[in-house]
Amino acid sequence: MTVPEKPNGAPTPTGIRVIIVGAGFGGLTAAIECHRQGHTPIIYESFPELKTLGDIISFGPNGGRIFHRWNNGAITKRMRELSIDLSSYGFNIHKYDTGEIVINQQAPDKDESAPVFNGHRGELHEVVFRYCKEELGVPIHLGKRVRNYFEDGERGVAGIKLDDGETVEGDVVVGSDGVRSKARELVLGYFDKPKSSGYAVFRAWFSNKDMIADPETAHFCNNGDTFNGWIGPDVHFLFSTIKNGSDCCWVLTHRDEADIDESWSFPGRLEDVYKVLEGWDPMCKRIVSKTPEEVLVDWKLVYRDPLPTWVSKEGRICLLGDAAHPFLPTSAQGATQALEDGVTLAITLRKAGKNNVAAALKAYQDIRYDRVRKVQKTGETTRDMWHKTDWEKVKKNPESIQLPREDWIFGFDAERHVEEVGDGVLSKFM
Ligand SMILES: Cc1cc2nc3c(=O)[nH]c(=O)nc-3n(C[C@H](O)[C@H](O)[C@H](O)COP(=O)(O)OP(=O)(O)OC[C@H]3O[C@@H](n4cnc5c(N)ncnc54)[C@H](O)[C@@H]3O)c2cc1C
Repeated sequence: MTVPEKPNGAPTPTGIRVIIVGAGFGGLTAAIECHRQGHTPIIYESFPELKTLGDIISFGPNGGRIFHRWNNGAITKRMRELSIDLSSYGFNIHKYDTGEIVINQQAPDKDESAPVFNGHRGELHEVVFRYCKEELGVPIHLGKRVRNYFEDGERGVAGIKLDDGETVEGDVVVGSDGVRSKARELVLGYFDKPKSSGYAVFRAWFSNKDMIADPETAHFCNNGDTFNGWIGPDVHFLFSTIKNGSDCCWVLTHRDEADIDESWSFPGRLEDVYKVLEGWDPMCKRIVSKTPEEVLVDWKLVYRDPLPTWVSKEGRICLLGDAAHPFLPTSAQGATQALEDGVTLAITLRKAGKNNVAAALKAYQDIRYDRVRKVQKTGETTRDMWHKTDWEKVKKNPESIQLPREDWIFGFDAERHVEEVGDGVLSKFM
């Protein structure tokens, strides 16, 4: 680590006050990394209390590498206990109709310094949230909805106005306020309406109670964690058991042209799921039948063209995470790319210093933009590879249907990268 340190090991304070909007993985990581680099982060979040929301979320090793640096690996240790362990089971890929296992994709070798995490979004989020707030002491103000953003280049400030009338100012504002970002409107100068991606996901997370009561499905839960995927025309169904088989989770991606806003809590109906699974291996329906209908979510997958910019006119407000670049779940990189953003921003700010915040934000975008775009594309390529499978070709080469694990994505070290290229990129803007 090349952060200048005071004798007690703490980073030298930079005096940069960073206001962060949103305490998702993007906002929390930005805050933790800003703290590591000696800035003063402060978070404003609209949700009134911490709740275990969502279901399955994935972090690639390029995300695990970031978590691992926090508190000397103590955070990854906590996250590992909550995450799926596929070291012995791997990933069974089935043909949708016959149910035959086409290939068992082995889990990659474990790397303690760059672990992979797949677990409940709410449970993993709580670990990171508590670390940020309780161990690092970053102020996180809950129940504070941001209504407006502003910046004043002459005074050298950026700020937010909250619903309750309060105004808060700092050197930088980070809009990590998710897919329905308000900050995006300020940065772009117009409302950017999401498009339908043409797909939706039914998703559910539930306890193994009914699964183990059925002798046909008990084996998914009785011998540790499992991961199975059924691949068919324009549809894929992924099913995992987690925390030593005690929790079950499935996602079913299928075509859907409905034009609605993004939502994580749109209720789904089991009868609609069964319709999508008509003609499929009966095991899929059997698994779905164990799902309590009240946990079923129907989530329309929206799409956004890449934004022309992530940085405001005067260079003091930037977008980060989903606010800047929503991902399709088939990339399994949305949350990880938000982490990489946070690392990059904190380091460009440290390198540029308090008097050059605008250059830091432009450098952050410059370093991140093309990589994010390239990773985003993998969400489409993996989905299309699965949804348009040529089964004759797969018979000859079963490996062609495996989940891609690309070194340029997984082997990337965001911190090392920005330390290497940061000064050069910054010099373009200073
Ligand atoms: C409730 C919830 C459940 C999710 N469940 C899943 C899941 O099951 N699987 C999955 O892969 N991904 C899930 N996601 C998305 C996933 O967390 C993100 O794609 C990824 O982690 C990138 O995170 P982010 O911080 O950029 O955005 P987000 O995680 O969306 O975080 C944005 C945060 O900003 C806050 N916010 C928004 N507007 C304002 C405002 N005006 N003022 C103050 N705060 C504001 C939101 O409350 C939210 O906490 C979920 C997100 C949320 C918010």
